[in-house]
Amino acid sequence: MATTAVIRLSIVVPCYNEQEVLPETCAQMTALLERLQRAGKITARSRVYFVDDGSRDETWSLICGFARDGLPVVGVKLSRNRGHQNALLAGLFAAEGDAVVSIDADLQDDLDAIETMLDRFHGGCDVVYGVRARREKDSVFKRFTAESFYRLLSAMGAQTVFNHADYRLMSRRAVEALRDFREVNLYLRGIVPLIGFRSAVVEYHRASRFAGESKYPLRKMVALALDAITSFSVVPLRLISFLGMLVFAGSMAVTVWALWVALVNDRVVPGWASIVLPMYFLGGVQLLALGAIGEYLGKLYVETKSRPRFFVEQIVGKVAQESFRLQAGAAQQVEPWTHAGR
Ligand code: UDP
Ligand code: MG
Repeated sequence: MATTAVIRLSIVVPCYNEQEVLPETCAQMTALLERLQRAGKITARSRVYFVDDGSRDETWSLICGFARDGLPVVGVKLSRNRGHQNALLAGLFAAEGDAVVSIDADLQDDLDAIETMLDRFHGGCDVVYGVRARREKDSVFKRFTAESFYRLLSAMGAQTVFNHADYRLMSRRAVEALRDFREVNLYLRGIVPLIGFRSAVVEYHRASRFAGESKYPLRKMVALALDAITSFSVVPLRLISFLGMLVFAGSMAVTVWALWVALVNDRVVPGWASIVLPMYFLGGVQLLALGAIGEYLGKLYVETKSRPRFFVEQIVGKVAQESFRLQAGAAQQVEPWTHAGR
């Protein structure tokens, strides 16, 4: 059903050591809110939620500064670094409003796509994916690893949107649906399509980072890729069985050959190679198989413990101020724009 009601929009931005880029990010995002508000598309209660993912630089004090200056900003501070996906989830769950857009702090993703996303939302979509149409600004290495990763994942049967990172709009009910996914090994790009509802894609051009360094070194990228594959695909386990069958067939062939050599050909079987090589080979295959099984077992181990995914240490900002006053009007020794809470 199409609707053109004015909506309350939240923009969720996970931030990890983003002091170089944050002032510009805040300026551009609050300007966008103002523009959309003037255009009559969003209400004055729309906010930017900055989630500080345990940064060690000035990120949190910058965010507190924005809130103190009366900007339409809410700061959510996590108790320690929990990684991009968890920080994003914390922001999505903290955010109020009818539609929530998640986006990186580094301004690589074109902010103007949000207006198009809102139009799709009004057109009746609950999830709108931002897709990178071209990524010529990324390094060749980043582009190659990212695109091969998306291909590999879809080859393994995980339903994901190609070249879509975590730049997307979700409706209130889509965010609420997300609460029912309790997994600790979080790969939101895989989970969101599982929610269903009507969705759409909005293409945009990916720029280079506005300032600062990438917070996704190779180590984190590999960890995310492993999480994605083992959380959304059992193909590696199936590959092991396939490999096992292949090796079994191979060894049958070698047995037939050995019998033929011994019985028909009447030659002495030469050397140790035919014994030693299969030993190494089989040892390798077994370790590989064990490793893959161990990977899933490890995931299972972590999931059964179902530890909390994040803790919010502090919330600052206008929305928090309202709820703070409602909850505790008497606690005047706390600065009115800040309160500790969940
Ligand atoms: N990020 C985070 N926690 C982390 C690592 C990254 O919240 O442990 C945030 C980071 O601040 C940024 C987003 O995740 O807003 C994406 O990181 P980045 O832009 O460095 O990744 P890239 O674009 O290089 O893949
Ligand atoms: Mg980036």
